[in-house]
Amino acid sequence: MDQERQRIAEDLRGIVGGEVCCDAPSLALYATDASLFEVWPAAVVRPRSVDDVAATVRWAASRGVAVHARGAGTSLCGDSLGPGIVVDCSRFLRRIVATTDATVRVQPGVVAHQLEEHLRLRGRVFGPDPAAAAVTTIGGMIGRNTSGSRFPRHGAVRDRVLAAQVVLGDGTVVELEPTLPVPPVDPHPAPGAAVDPAMRVRHLAFEVERILADDAAVIGRGQPRERLSHGGYRLDDLRREGRIDLARMVCGAAGTLGIVTEATLRIEAAGEARAVTLLLFDSLETAGRAALLLAPLGPSACDLFDKRHLALARGARVDFDLLIPPVADAGLLVEFVGVDAAAAEARVDEAIRRVQGKRRLCLDIRRAEGPGDAELFWSLSRHLVSMLHGVRGESRPVPFVEDIVVPPATLPDFLGRLQSILKREAATAMVFGHAVHGQLHVRPYAAPGNEADREALLRLAEALYAEVVAAGGTIGGEQGLGLSRTGFFARFFPELSAVFARVKRAFDPAGILNPGKIVDAGGPLPFRRSVLPPAEPPPAAASPDPAAERTAPVTDSLLPLLHWDPPGAAGEVDACNGCGACRSLAPGGRMCPRYREEPAEESSPRAKANLLAAVLDGRLDPKTLTGDEVKAIADTCFHCHQCRIECSAGVDVPALVMQLKGAHVAENSLGLSDWLLARVDGLSRWGGLLAPLANAALEDPRARWILEKTVGIAQGRKLPRFTGQRTMRWASRRGLTRPSRRGGARVLYFLDTWATRHDPLLVEAFVGILERHGIGVSIDPRLGSAGMPLVATGDLAAARRVAARNVRILAEAVRLGHRIVCTEPAAVTAITHDYPLLVEDDDMERVVAATCDAATYLWELHRDGKLRLDFDPLPARVLYHSPCHVRVRAVTSPSEHLLRLVPALRLDAADRGCSGMAGTWGLHHAHHRTSLRIGRGLVAAMRDGDVDLGATECSACRLQMEQGTTRSAVHPLKLLARAWRLLPGPHGLDGLLTARSGRLTTSRCDG
Ligand SMILES: Cc1cc2nc3c(=O)[nH]c(=O)nc-3n(C[C@H](O)[C@H](O)[C@H](O)COP(=O)(O)OP(=O)(O)OC[C@H]3O[C@@H](n4cnc5c(N)ncnc54)[C@H](O)[C@@H]3O)c2cc1C
Repeated sequence: MDQERQRIAEDLRGIVGGEVCCDAPSLALYATDASLFEVWPAAVVRPRSVDDVAATVRWAASRGVAVHARGAGTSLCGDSLGPGIVVDCSRFLRRIVATTDATVRVQPGVVAHQLEEHLRLRGRVFGPDPAAAAVTTIGGMIGRNTSGSRFPRHGAVRDRVLAAQVVLGDGTVVELEPTLPVPPVDPHPAPGAAVDPAMRVRHLAFEVERILADDAAVIGRGQPRERLSHGGYRLDDLRREGRIDLARMVCGAAGTLGIVTEATLRIEAAGEARAVTLLLFDSLETAGRAALLLAPLGPSACDLFDKRHLALARGARVDFDLLIPPVADAGLLVEFVGVDAAAAEARVDEAIRRVQGKRRLCLDIRRAEGPGDAELFWSLSRHLVSMLHGVRGESRPVPFVEDIVVPPATLPDFLGRLQSILKREAATAMVFGHAVHGQLHVRPYAAPGNEADREALLRLAEALYAEVVAAGGTIGGEQGLGLSRTGFFARFFPELSAVFARVKRAFDPAGILNPGKIVDAGGPLPFRRSVLPPAEPPPAAASPDPAAERTAPVTDSLLPLLHWDPPGAAGEVDACNGCGACRSLAPGGRMCPRYREEPAEESSPRAKANLLAAVLDGRLDPKTLTGDEVKAIADTCFHCHQCRIECSAGVDVPALVMQLKGAHVAENSLGLSDWLLARVDGLSRWGGLLAPLANAALEDPRARWILEKTVGIAQGRKLPRFTGQRTMRWASRRGLTRPSRRGGARVLYFLDTWATRHDPLLVEAFVGILERHGIGVSIDPRLGSAGMPLVATGDLAAARRVAARNVRILAEAVRLGHRIVCTEPAAVTAITHDYPLLVEDDDMERVVAATCDAATYLWELHRDGKLRLDFDPLPARVLYHSPCHVRVRAVTSPSEHLLRLVPALRLDAADRGCSGMAGTWGLHHAHHRTSLRIGRGLVAAMRDGDVDLGATECSACRLQMEQGTTRSAVHPLKLLARAWRLLPGPHGLDGLLTARSGRLTTSRCDG
C-alpha cells in the first residue's frame, strides 16, 4: 500500500466504526460496475451507521477528497465510480427500520427484492420493479430514481419517497421532506459556523425555490409535462402547497446532493389482479403505432422488443421458440391490472379488440392463459437485460447510448429514424423499450476495449442524441447520465445543465459528492481497458519507463497455472460484464450461497473476475496474487459452481478462483490444517486401514479435540464410521477389479473416498443395479479419489498429479469402450471441469465426454427404454436434496426423476438451497457455523419436516442433512436398489438404514 493510501486508511479507521479498505485488491473490486468504465477509488468505506457516513464525508470535505455513494454497483453508466472514497452502503446498512400500513422506513443497503418480500408478507407493495430487483439496493434506486416495466402503474422511486435522512457534502445529517423555504439570515456565513440542521434544510428549500423561480422558463422547456424527464435533477414537480419536496430532489441525483442513510417510502395494498398479452408485429414502427393505440387504455406495462431480442430469446429457451414465430420482427408485452382477474382480463380483451380493429397492424397475438404463461411472457422482459449480458465475444451489445426518452406520440416515427441512424453509422444494435412512456434502451454491438469501436460509439451517441433532441426527447431517462452521458447532456442541453449546476452548488458547494455526474463531466471517458490479448503482438522495443511497462495491458501468460482454451483466462474475465446478478439474494436460485450468507462485494463471484481483470489489464501488480488480501477474497469461494450455471454469460468463476488460490499456494504453500484437510482422501485411507482404532477415535472427545487442532475438523461434526477394506475386498471377491469381459455396455465405476471407506452398501447397490440391467461393471483399484479437496484449497500441483494419474487410467477404460460413472457428484465435476484445466492430455476430451454420474447414466437407460421398472413399492416420505454439483449439469436432477418412478415413495424435492457443506469446507471448525447457516433451510426441513429420511447423491450434503437430527440421509441409489429388491437385509427402510450404519454383515443380493 503506498504511503498516501496508508495515511487515508489510518485516518478513516480512527473515525469510522465500519470497515475501511485501502489495499489494492479491495480497490480493484470497486473500480468497476455494470458500465464500460473503470475508475480506481482511493479508499472504500463500509459504514455501519449514519455517523460513519457523516464522519467519512466530514473527513473527505476537510481534505477536498470526493465521496461516491455506492449500492450494489449495477449502474450501467458508471454512476457510482470515482477516484475518491467509495461509501459502500450495501454491506451493513441493510435494516428495515419500521413498517406501517402506509410507509416503510429503510436503510439504503436493503435490496429491492427483500423489501418487496417483507412487504408481501404484510399484504403491501413498494412498486418500482427494475429488472435487477434481486440485487439493486434502495439507496441505488433512490440515487438512480430507478423504475421498471411497471412505471406506468407504480412510477419511479421519486414517486414513493416521502422523506430521507441524508448526509450533506459537509457531513451535516439532515432529514429531507417537503419543507417551507426560509431565507438564511446571513447569506454568507463564516466557514465552520454552526447551523441548526433543520434550519439548514429550510435554507436549502429557499435556494431551490429561488432556482425554480429564476429558471422557470428553462425548466419548462427542458422538462415538459408531456414527456418523461428524469435525466439529471428533476425540477418540474418539486412544489407542494408552498413547500419544496427536498426528498424528491435527491431521487435521481446520483448521490451528488447528499448520501441517503435512511428513507421513508410510501407503500400500498397489494393484491390487484393482472392479465398479460404478447403482441407480435412485422416491424418496430408498427409495434410503436400499436403502443400509441393502447396507451389510452392505461396498461400497467408495455415493453417493446426488437427482432434481435426475439431471436435471442428463441435461441435461449425452447418455450420462447414455441411462443414466438420467426417472422415476428417486434413484440409488445402488455399488462393490465384490475380489482379482480375478470376486470384485468376484460381490459386485455379491449386491448386485443383495438389492435385487431386496425387492419394488418398485428402479426400474431399470444394471450397468457394462466400464471405460468404470464410468468413466461414476463421472463422475456425480466431476463432480457441479463440475456444481453450473456452475449459473449469481443463484440457484444454494450450499455453506452443505452438510455433515451422521446415524447410517446413521436415513438413510431422515431423508431424509423433510429434504424436510419444505425444504418448510417454502420452500427448493429438491440432495441428494447417501455413503449407507452417513450423510453428506449439501445445497445449497439461493440468491443469496448477496442479504440476504433469506442470512437464509433462516441460518434453514434452524437448522432443519436441529436435526433433525440430534434424529436423533443432527452437522454438518461432511466439509467441516468453517469459517466456515459453527463458530458453529452451538457452539450445538448446547455441551459438546463447550467440550472443543474446551480442546484449542485446550493447543496454541495465544495463539489465533494460524486463529482462528474450530472454536472461538470471530467475529461475523457475512462473506458475499461481490454483484458484480451492483442490481435497483433506489441512492438518488441522495450519501454524506457518501467512504470509505463507495468500499466501496459498484459496477457494471461501471467497466469500459467491452468490450461485454458483460447483466448485463455482473459476470455472468461472479459465475459464478466459486472452486471452484479451474482449478488442475488432472491429465492428460487442458488447463485453464490457464500454471498447470500455474507453479502460483501468480495464474496460475490464478479469480485474474482474483477480481481483478475485488474491483473490482466496491468493495473494490479501480479505479485499481489500471492498476497493475503487476494487469498482472503479467493477463499470466499467454495467451488459450488452455482455461479457458473446461473450467470447469464456463464463466466467460469470457479476456474478463475482455482487460478487465484493456486497462485497463492504455489508461492506460500498451505498451513498444516489446510494441507491435511486437502488430503482428507489420503487420511481416510489410513482411517480405513486402522478402522477399529479410527472408529473408536471418532467417538472419543479427546481424539476429536486433537483432530480439530490438527486437521481442523470441527468437534461438533458428525463423522461417518470407517468400514475398513470391506468395499475393495467385496469388489475383488466379485471379480470387479478385473476388466469386465461382458459384451455390450460397460461401466468403469469411479470410486470416491466415501464409497471406498465408508459405504460398501452403496457400491453393492450400484453394482447390483448395473448387473441387473446387463451392464458389465468394473472397478480399477489403481484409481485414486478425484482430488476435489486439493482443487478447492488451491493445491494445484498435488491436484495435477492426481488428475494426470487418473486421466491415464480412465483413458484406457474409455478406449476399451467403458463409460466412467461416479456415485459422488463432485468427482464428476473434478473430471469434467477441473482435469482439463489441470492436465493436457490427448484423451481428455474423450474422458470428459464419457464421464457422468450414476443417476444420469440410469436416466439415459430409461430414456432408451432399457430401465427395468419392476420396483417394489417403497412407502416412505423422502426429502430429496439436489446437490450443487448435480445442478451444475441438470437443473432437475435425474435422481429426482428416477425416485419418482418408485411406487408409494412420497418425494419432497423442493429446492432449499445449498447444503452449506461444499465438500470438506463445512467440516472445518472455522466454517462449521457458517456452513450450518447456509444450509439452515435443508437442515431445518430434515429436522422438523414430515419426512422419514433424506436422500442426496453428495456425501458431504448427507452429513449436513444428518447434522442436528436423528433422521438418516442416504444415496438415492440405495432407495432404488431397495425398491428393486437388490439390497440385502429386511425389506423396507429399516433394513436399509441398519445397513447404512455399517452393521450389515451379509452381501447376499436377492435380485
Ligand atoms: C441487469 C440489469 C438490469 C437493470 N434494470 C434496470 C431497470 O429495469 N430499471 C432501471 O431503472 N435501472 C435498471 N438497471 C440499472 C441499475 O441497476 C439500477 O438503476 C439500480 O437501481 C442501481 O442500484 P444499485 O444498488 O446497483 O446502485 P449503484 O449502481 O451502486 O448506484 C447507483 C447510483 O446511486 C447512487 N447511490 C447509491 N447509494 C446511494 C445512497 N445511499 N445515497 C445516495 N445515492 C446513492 C450512486 O452514487 C449512483 O449514482 C439495471 C442494471 C442491470 C445491470
